[in-house]
Parts: sequence; C-alpha cells; structure tokens
Amino acid sequence: MTDIRFHPTDDTLACYTAGDLDSASSIMLSAHLEMCSHCRARVDTLENTQAQQLALTPSEPLSDELNNLLGTILCHQEMPQEEAHDSDKATEAHIEVNSKTFRLPRVLQRHEDQIGPWSRLPGNIKRANVSTSGHSKMNFIYMDCNSSLPQHTHQGQEITLVLAGEFMDEHATYKPGDFIIQTPKHQHSPKTREDQDCLCLTLLDAPLHFTSGLATLLNPFSQLFFR
Ligand SMILES: [Zn+2]
Repeated sequence: MTDIRFHPTDDTLACYTAGDLDSASSIMLSAHLEMCSHCRARVDTLENTQAQQLALTPSEPLSDELNNLLGTILCHQEMPQEEAHDSDKATEAHIEVNSKTFRLPRVLQRHEDQIGPWSRLPGNIKRANVSTSGHSKMNFIYMDCNSSLPQHTHQGQEITLVLAGEFMDEHATYKPGDFIIQTPKHQHSPKTREDQDCLCLTLLDAPLHFTSGLATLLNPFSQLFFR
C-alpha cells in the first residue's frame, strides 16, 4: 500500500519499539504497521538502533528495557505480511456491518470476542466497542455512504486508523492505512461521499465536544462515542 499519507510520529514509533506504549495504543500502531511498509521499515531501523545502544550500555543482563525490546521484536516478527496465504484466509476473522464483511486487523484476529455489537449513532454512523485495558476507548466506527458527523473538537487525543473505504473533513481525504491524530487543537466535521462508505478503528481518551449550531445539543450524546 503506497498512498498512505498520515503516519505515526517518530516519537510514537520509538515508544512502540521500546515497549513503552499502553496496550490500546500498541494495537492501533500494530494495525497501522500491518498496512504500512514505510513504517515497518522505520520500526526495523529503530529496533536495530535500540538493540545496538543496549549492547553498548553496560547494564544488568536482560534489563526491563531489553526485555521490552525483545518482546516487541518477537511480536513484530509475527507481524503478517501484506499478502496473506490462502490457507490463512480461510481462518481469518471478519467483522460484519451493513451487510458487508471486512477482515479484522491481524492484531485483533484472536480477539473477536472483545468486539461488542454494533450500535447506531447520530448521522448514519455505527459503532462497535473493542474492550481493551486502560482508560482510553477503542471503537470500530462505520460511516455509511453519505453520512456525516457534526463539527467537533477533541477534549483529549483521538487516533483514527482507516481500515477500508475513505472519509474526508475540511483538511484532507483519508484512505486505508492513514493514521490520523487529532488533539484539542483540531476541529473538524468528518463525512463520507455519496458512493463511498468507511470503516475506521478509533482510540479516544476523552469524549468528543460538538461545536457548531444545533449540534451542540449533541454534547450529551458525545458520551456515546466514549464507551
Ligand atoms: Zn506508516
């Protein structure tokens, strides 16, 4: 996949490689890496650099840091390549919504049971919670064709990974693999085209805050996005 335009920052990749990210953020990162050869190469380089630094650092054998790094490397080696083998496809887990079937990211393949049922949100949007440890809330968000979410800001950080289809806002159009980080500085109104739906995986660490006109009435519902 070559047309991914939005990637995690170097700092985030370094934290991932060092095993310093919380598990929910690591899931988001792993799902992006599965789709992004560019970031996989960056992680390889970071792992090599960190391994060399550890080798040069006189410290106790198998420090926590090294253990974390080894864990990440082992985990990374299990990462799938973009082309799955036919034999794998038969056993792949999928998620169904709107009479469509989407393959689950590899990192969630064995966690189907942690994905809740779909519920409807305002604006022709559906949400399925993924239970993870920690305070942040992970959701699959499905935007049907021609759907939109009123303009909102983020009270914390929101990470969105596009899995299929595309959506757009005032700033850009987001396609599969794009890893979008929104903070309280960002305000946007996501929407889909008439002929294109979109499936995303999102991680929110605080409820959304709706900012425009009547949509401010939605604020009591913003908790719907944060469960
Ligand atoms: Zn990337």
